[in-house]
Amino acid sequence: MQAKRGITIYEIFMKKTPLKRKSKTANRKIQDELWQECRRIQFKKYGDVCYTCKKPIQGANRHLGHFIPNSVGGALLRYNLDNLRPQCYYCNINCGGQGAVFYRELLKDEGKKFIDKLFILKTQTVKATDLYLKLLEEYKLL
Ligand SMILES: [Zn+2]
Repeated sequence: MQAKRGITIYEIFMKKTPLKRKSKTANRKIQDELWQECRRIQFKKYGDVCYTCKKPIQGANRHLGHFIPNSVGGALLRYNLDNLRPQCYYCNINCGGQGAVFYRELLKDEGKKFIDKLFILKTQTVKATDLYLKLLEEYKLL
């Protein structure tokens, strides 16, 4: 009886763990692919120049930076092209994205309404996986 119970718990454990892992990996793969699409689209559109310091960027220095960072942005902003611009390593990593300069440049290029729209998205929530799949399909055509 005891052995049987032990097996049952073991079976439940073995059943749940691989399932969880599998879905996490699939989601990670979608996000990796989506990020590559974002990079391709934004570098094609804005060129190999840092959006905040205007220096040319290449190789490992070619970052894609978030205006509203991932730590506060949520799913609607993480892969939102309006929220992403090419940046150098220094601006994106060392200077934490250069938020103030980023804001000034976006204001100059796109206007206040454009920025307000991004901040509204920050407060909204969606089912991330559905959104990411939809964006991936959309971005592949760009
Ligand atoms: Zn820079």
